[in-house]
Amino acid sequence: AVGEIKHPAARAGAAAEKPGEQTERLLSPKTSIVSYPLLRLMVCPTKNKAVSMNIDLSGKVALVTASTGGIGFAIAKGLAASGAEVIINGRSERSVSAALARLQNAVPGATTRPAIADLSSAEGVNLLVQAVSGVDILVNNAGIYGPQDFYETDDATWENYWQTNVMSGVRLSRALLPAMVQQGWGRVVFISSESARNIPADMIHYGVTKTAQLSLARGLAKFVAGSGVTVNSVLPGPTISDGFAEMMKDEVAKTGKSLEQLAKEFVMANRPSSVIQRAATVEEVANMVVYVCSTQASATSGAALRVDGGVVDDIV
Ligand code: NAD
Repeated sequence: AVGEIKHPAARAGAAAEKPGEQTERLLSPKTSIVSYPLLRLMVCPTKNKAVSMNIDLSGKVALVTASTGGIGFAIAKGLAASGAEVIINGRSERSVSAALARLQNAVPGATTRPAIADLSSAEGVNLLVQAVSGVDILVNNAGIYGPQDFYETDDATWENYWQTNVMSGVRLSRALLPAMVQQGWGRVVFISSESARNIPADMIHYGVTKTAQLSLARGLAKFVAGSGVTVNSVLPGPTISDGFAEMMKDEVAKTGKSLEQLAKEFVMANRPSSVIQRAATVEEVANMVVYVCSTQASATSGAALRVDGGVVDDIV
């Protein structure tokens, strides 16, 4: 029909991943499911019985933006430990080389690639797009944050937050999704925040960008529906990352308390609805991201997944 929008999966003629496909691939062509009761159980997990979960991302290439430190580095480490080849992105050669060395130390034998680019502008994202290839998994982690009075937040600050936190993900998704759809498999994850739903009065400019990411992820999931590519957002709560440590460094120096203790006090004072009553570790956040990038997570798309320790006081 005139004006009809053709679905990207149809445009690309993609062979979408089917339910249970991951298990089916484990069977050789000559293996009959019927003759192996154990395999029958594995193929039909809903029929009862547990299926052991072993996340294996070997053969997949993952790009994690802003992965030289903090949550991004923990995600890169988790994906590498699950067998993925990981592209580490940062703004300088020095920070990227240091992160590659730390990753090699944490996951000996990991396959990695460097990609130096500043994602706060279209030019920077273009540089990254040109530097990468064969990306199966895109984790949009790049994000800046910090408290600032609304009256004192000028247009340039709003623009910088918008470009870094939202447009980097828009631009990368637009560049990398078509190949994922074409091959019928891919994972896109936006690292949003509990601040997307629980807008902090002292970081409205940040909260707005994090809410926008939820909208973007949900829209993209529908845009590539049925293609085998999933798009989700993950919402961490207060997490002890490098950026968080930087935000608290004056307090650490002033009080002599440990970062963990101060993080806990921060949570109790500023996010009292926290169910875990402490900040999360970067690894706790990364675990959720690794799962959502796994082949096992094929029925999770268009979701906003909370790793906020229960800060958002809601049942969903
Ligand atoms: P972090 O500050 O510890 O690390 C961010 C990394 O991004 C740094 O290595 C930095 O060099 C890099 N970076 C910054 N600007 C960049 C740019 N323009 N281009 C490329 N790299 C850039 O941050 P974090 O706490 O790990 O946060 C990561 C993501 O998680 C962000 O999107 C943030 O909004 C989100 N988040 C963090 C928390 C938290 O409490 N730490 C909570 C909720 C959500």
